Amino acid sequence: MAILTKGPRGTQDVLPGESYKWQYLEKKMMETVRLYGFREIRIPTFEHTELFNRSVGDTTDVVQKEMYTFEDKGGRSVTLRPEGTAGTLRSAIEHGLLGDALPVKAAYLLSAFRYEKPQAGRLREFHQFGVEMLGSSAASADAQVISMVFHLFRELGIKARLELNSIGCPTCRAKYQEALRNHFAARREELCDTCKDRLERNPMRLLDCKSPVCQEIGKGAPMMLDFLCEECTAHFEQVKARLDAMEVPYTINPRIVRGLDYYTKTVFEFVSDKIGAQSTICAGGRYDGLIEQLGGPALPGIGFAMGLERILMTMEACRAPFPQEKGCVVYIGSMGDAAGIKAAQLTQQLRKEGFWAECDTMDRSVKAQMKFANKLGARFSLILGDSELEQGAAKLKRMADGSVTEIRLDAAPSEPDSLVKAVYDACLEEVATALKTE
Ligand code: ATP
Ligand code: MG
Repeated sequence: MAILTKGPRGTQDVLPGESYKWQYLEKKMMETVRLYGFREIRIPTFEHTELFNRSVGDTTDVVQKEMYTFEDKGGRSVTLRPEGTAGTLRSAIEHGLLGDALPVKAAYLLSAFRYEKPQAGRLREFHQFGVEMLGSSAASADAQVISMVFHLFRELGIKARLELNSIGCPTCRAKYQEALRNHFAARREELCDTCKDRLERNPMRLLDCKSPVCQEIGKGAPMMLDFLCEECTAHFEQVKARLDAMEVPYTINPRIVRGLDYYTKTVFEFVSDKIGAQSTICAGGRYDGLIEQLGGPALPGIGFAMGLERILMTMEACRAPFPQEKGCVVYIGSMGDAAGIKAAQLTQQLRKEGFWAECDTMDRSVKAQMKFANKLGARFSLILGDSELEQGAAKLKRMADGSVTEIRLDAAPSEPDSLVKAVYDACLEEVATALKTE
């Protein structure tokens, strides 16, 4: 029955004790890019298979080996998205976003699916945060998008190296492809089977191959930077000048080609050397022909995607601070049925006021209830029994030091609620003390 009690290979659960990290990360990401005018887009989990064949490219590892493709009950071929750019562009074209004010700036948080060999930082279902900036061919757009990642990483406490390259445009790339083909053809017999096929169709893919032999042969290969046309050279220089002006440090890595076919000109990766072999935490670039290729207007674009799992690994490795998860504020213990009803009523009032409050839902003894309150890290507790109900009063105890505030349980509906006010005051006092000692 292991199939019922173990998730599929390459999937991961985020447990209740860990989810606050994800929530923090996702909020920070969306908030930071909002400062640059990016707003969230939500797209479907699956698309027509053809969309990915066309955009990601049918000589890439993603399309050739990694897609979750299946026929639905209507006989259509659909694919779980392996990335977010294709769906985002499809959506922008379908809904006419590109006919409005440009640039269009969209950001997404999504799960993506690739049939890969699972290992640390490489999953079959993983999560990406990404953006697309559509409509601008200017180097200032490239610089803005890249500096935004730099800004975000600083906010998150992540240290990563920015590596930059240009892979030119179709004009200058043709000559380069030829030079590459000649380089690899000399050792054709040693190449892996996939690369033998790619040699004719798309020799740049060979530089991205993971096979050690192909990588070895690729070492002495000619580099795109030496083949850039005048326009691509000027664009690259302008991107660098803007990054310099914004004090975004980078290194040039002429070996970056990126694993997806659609890139042109600027490509970049942010690399962390703290998380092992899967070290690219963010990758992106310009894709000037893609929108048109997908049936949209002839508009350029640029974007990036980062893997949330790898980002979290990097944050842990950099000891980046996560905000403390807010604990339970009040635990209202009770003894007996009448007190239990009162406890439920008061707990509900506190929750309506925005406090995390708890009462017994396990029919436990008072002693066991208090033990549980401690486990929850409740900051205050209250115990209700017959005598509290009779007297219409109870003691709100601060768990840290045992100090006590008397509260009334019998306030008239029109009066300010005694318990809510006491909890509110006690919390304010705590904050004031914390500020004083800081
Ligand atoms: P890699 O070289 O690691 O396979 P890639 O070039 O296939 O990466 P992209 O398609 O550019 O990756 O995706 C952008 C980012 O998404 C990557 O930099 C990485 O952080 C993350 N990512 C990609 N594939 C996976 C995966 N299988 N598991 C976890 N994260 C991933
Ligand atoms: Mg990959």
